[in-house]
Amino acid sequence: MFKRIIKYCLKHFDLFEKLAYVTDRRIKPQILTIKILSAIVFIHIANLGSLHSFFQNNISAKELPSVSTIARVADSLSLDGIREVGSHVYKIARAKKMIEPYMGQYIAIVDGHEITTSQYCKCIHCKKRKLKSGKGTAKYQYYHSFSALILAGEKYSFVLDIEPIAPGESEITSSYRLIKRVCKNYPRAFKILIGDALYLNAKIFKLLESCHKKAIAVLKEKRRQLFEEANKLSLLTEPKIYADSKTTYKVWDYTIGNCWDGYGKDVRVIVSEETTTKRVHARDGKSWEKKSVVTNWMWVTNIMDSSLGDLKNTVRICHSRWQIENKCFNETVNTWKADHIYRHSENAIIAFLLLLFICVNIFNIFLARNIKDKKIKTKVYLIAQIKAEFYSLKRLLFLVPIPI
Ligand SMILES: [Zn+2]
Repeated sequence: MFKRIIKYCLKHFDLFEKLAYVTDRRIKPQILTIKILSAIVFIHIANLGSLHSFFQNNISAKELPSVSTIARVADSLSLDGIREVGSHVYKIARAKKMIEPYMGQYIAIVDGHEITTSQYCKCIHCKKRKLKSGKGTAKYQYYHSFSALILAGEKYSFVLDIEPIAPGESEITSSYRLIKRVCKNYPRAFKILIGDALYLNAKIFKLLESCHKKAIAVLKEKRRQLFEEANKLSLLTEPKIYADSKTTYKVWDYTIGNCWDGYGKDVRVIVSEETTTKRVHARDGKSWEKKSVVTNWMWVTNIMDSSLGDLKNTVRICHSRWQIENKCFNETVNTWKADHIYRHSENAIIAFLLLLFICVNIFNIFLARNIKDKKIKTKVYLIAQIKAEFYSLKRLLFLVPIPI
């Protein structure tokens, strides 16, 4: 299966041919950059999770760059070069209809994520926070974080780009750079961007508007005038009520003006009260009882027309923001070991992550479109098959169609 997915990368995405254009900043390189990049791609596709695991196999050591070489070169790999490869993969995937719209729309989602929290491992680009300590001595926790922008999908999401959040910088500052770059590099990838309450920010809304895109953000802050106004209106008007699966929705939809000074235009506020009935164990531990859980959501958007469809569709689109947590961060951390630090330097962390997301994007497409075997029911099983074949190989670099 390892050879099959590598062949898929070559046949559909020219992956290694494109990676051959990526450079690094070594002055007199003895080993070609593509050899290092191929090694990292093999590590990610075989889901090895560490540089040392890469050498626990039957492959001749002469074929592989050493652990220290991979780590050292990763410090100066061109991130823009890797991003170009990601963009190439996206263009092919979109042209071949491997990326499908979600609920009839191309929707992007943005959020921040934290990696490598440690009290001991740190570098000059680490962010730090003070920990509570009972003994009077201050302890710090060091970590890196990045913002990510993905495309929502029915079966899988597609990661477009990531941007590091530097020490002393807010998630919004990093995301602003990310959104600007994605709008330039992927001008027609999406029409709507969804973010959490942090993205209810006039600067972000205006940036998207200047790129002919719309925004949806969660409204959480009770102090905001918009929140108060929406709550007042909810008391005065009747909601639309509908049921979807085990959840009953009460939804209000308003246009509100003059309540967001920073933005200065009318916005639409969607309020959803969702009651889900669950079957839980009764207190006696023998029988079951029904329990209702109520959650309240509010979103603000500048999509004033009916392009989101009816209210049911609109609420589903607003909830698709969860995909970045579930299908992107949780899955890549739990299944793909995205939190592992292969090399602790600012450049290497982002380089490894960008390459990982390229591999995961291709893997998801490969699973959805190429795997017809009904025995393969889960991602984990397919990954185990890929890994097993990787460990059985005696030669590796013959798979790469470039002389290295
Ligand atoms: Zn660090």
